[in-house]
Amino acid sequence: MDFSPSWYELGLPHVWLPYCQMQVAPPPLPVARTHGCRIVLADGRELVDGIASWWSVCHGYNHPHILESVARQLQTMPHVMFGGLVHEQALVLARRLTAMVPAGLSRVFFSDSGSTAVEVALKVALQFWRNTGQSRKQRFLCFSDGYHGDTLGAMSVSDPVRSMHQAFRDVLLPQHVLDLPTDEVRLHLLERFLADSAGDLAGMIVEPLVQGAGGMRFHDASTLATLHALARKYELLLIADEIATGFWRTGSRFACDQAGISPDILCLGKALTGGTLGLGATLVCEPIFEAFLSDDWNAALMHGPTFMANPLACAAANASLDLFEREPRARQVKAIEAALRTGLEPCRALPHVVDVRVKGAIGVVQLAEDVDVYALRSQFVAQGVWVRPFKDVVYLMPPLVISEDELNVLTRAVRVVIGGQRNQPEMTC
Ligand code: PMP
Repeated sequence: MDFSPSWYELGLPHVWLPYCQMQVAPPPLPVARTHGCRIVLADGRELVDGIASWWSVCHGYNHPHILESVARQLQTMPHVMFGGLVHEQALVLARRLTAMVPAGLSRVFFSDSGSTAVEVALKVALQFWRNTGQSRKQRFLCFSDGYHGDTLGAMSVSDPVRSMHQAFRDVLLPQHVLDLPTDEVRLHLLERFLADSAGDLAGMIVEPLVQGAGGMRFHDASTLATLHALARKYELLLIADEIATGFWRTGSRFACDQAGISPDILCLGKALTGGTLGLGATLVCEPIFEAFLSDDWNAALMHGPTFMANPLACAAANASLDLFEREPRARQVKAIEAALRTGLEPCRALPHVVDVRVKGAIGVVQLAEDVDVYALRSQFVAQGVWVRPFKDVVYLMPPLVISEDELNVLTRAVRVVIGGQRNQPEMTC
């Protein structure tokens, strides 16, 4: 790094960074500002962002419409508690969300992150059965390679072996982890399990179509439709975690749309605010909401984060929904999908690449072995892009507004870095 500002030198020894072994991790890069699909470093270098700040910045950074809406809200009311009080941004957002999500999800519980949206979904599912006289239904079915967040409940429904939460294996609530029913054998195993155990299950939780942090694995809409049918047949609540897949990322508004299903509970986050501010939303269908109506206080949902439905975050989310209505995101995702296919496909010929897959605005190069994440990351920076490989995958999930040229820079960087031919003008793989 050519230049490190004083705030970096003085502050770095006092922060604890996410997902990293701080004894060996290379120092993080100081960022001065962002714009469009670019991250500008303190030393002036500009990186094309290949992962949209953990898949959230769907309209690009600093979109003027979102900035204006948030700035206006900042002048009026940066925050007010949501207990006993409501405000326009949250109510407008709730109405808009319920109108655009799969049919039947009529109530929104706001929280402040994806993980809390999942925690709320789990609590709602457990209490739904308790309120309806079936307190035995206390466990969840979740899936291999699944990931639903880093809080305790969310970790408990993530893949306990392959997720990054192994340190907590012995203390998490025990849940049931099975493979997704992607073939006849797995389907048979799942049905057999459900036939035996459904009486103890509150629900099943799945990341529709794309399992993200567990390994960027894809499954078909038919698999999702099968899960929906099984949830109906065995009386479990289906929780769709669309925190990563929602808002066009997989090519449709929500991944559930491709299977033509409505889950009982839907979790949203990340791109909900266009990636500007933290906000989570847990949407439920009316029968679930009604099961909490009672003369008995104990039947009420006891949850209420201090910053739930924060007006700034809701203003950002409303502005983000405006942009989805006004701008051609669906068409842009199609173009990204085509460019990712063309740009990443050559990697398939490399001996250490076992798969190249693309769905919507997600492109994945699957390697045979875990990569040296830190080494690759710095090679990507040298190529002028921000890409964060993990485990055995290198993936791109860029802002949906990315230009053709910027996308070419990203896919070329992936080809060059994975091909191990750094700093060469072009390569054959
Ligand atoms: N669910 C899924 C599918 C996610 O991808 C994530 C974040 N990567 C979460 C939940 C947790 O969201 P957050 O980081 O906002 O808590």
